[in-house]
Amino acid sequence: MLAHPFDQRHTHKCAIKKAWGYLPMNHQLRVLGQLGDTPVVVRGLTWLPFTQLATFLVMVWYDRRRSPEHSTSDHILIAGMKTAVILGSEWAHNLAHLTAAHHIRKPMDELQIILGMPRCIYHDLEDADVSPRQHIQRAAAGPLLNASLLPLLSTLRRGSHPGSLARELWDAAVGMNIFLSTVSLLPIPGIDGGAILKWSLVNQGRSPTQADGIVRQVNGPLAAILGLGSVLAYLRGKRFVALLLGALAGSAMGVFLGWIKESELLQSPNSRRVLS
Ligand SMILES: [Zn+2]
Repeated sequence: MLAHPFDQRHTHKCAIKKAWGYLPMNHQLRVLGQLGDTPVVVRGLTWLPFTQLATFLVMVWYDRRRSPEHSTSDHILIAGMKTAVILGSEWAHNLAHLTAAHHIRKPMDELQIILGMPRCIYHDLEDADVSPRQHIQRAAAGPLLNASLLPLLSTLRRGSHPGSLARELWDAAVGMNIFLSTVSLLPIPGIDGGAILKWSLVNQGRSPTQADGIVRQVNGPLAAILGLGSVLAYLRGKRFVALLLGALAGSAMGVFLGWIKESELLQSPNSRRVLS
């Protein structure tokens, strides 16, 4: 017997709902363990290490292009080690945020693992229990850790033979830690520099709303500078740097124009969860 059209529509909707329910982002958060006072959480299969896989494949491609004389096992070895060093630096950066937050007794609410990488989550970005100074300490810990690793990594790099595997590895480590200790200090909301500027302004007597307004204004000239840097990098043939600076310029411009708001950008789908 044919179902009433309404029932058909209803069944169709339920099928979509059911299929939607299988998507990994719809799964409940699952606690894997605890780091200090911070639970380490995953949602469904969104933790699967796709970032590691994608980075590894890009590194294999890059090594094949740059050093075609290497054997396949060399390509794999070099790509694997570079992936570990580059993404390990990003993990260390986030664990430094977590450690600092724990140390000042204003712990991160969650460390969520998404696509194999950590995401720092604070439920309330303007938690009144966290002083401006403590906000700054939590945000600065990541870039400071990367900066503090640079002297050691640079020394190891200098001690390695040019063209050796070790040199390639230390090149990657130094490059990534320079990147993390500089780019993450740009005053763009959502990255550490944005939080540091905002809470420095609050520390000087501005309200959080006033500070947000100033950060937004700063992002206008910042977008222009980054955009200019992107064009110059492109003209010099540094396409990857041009792309990166272009993306950062776009983010800063989005903030300046009010298209990107930290609270909306960082809002988790089912709660007031936000990251910093
Ligand atoms: Zn950070």
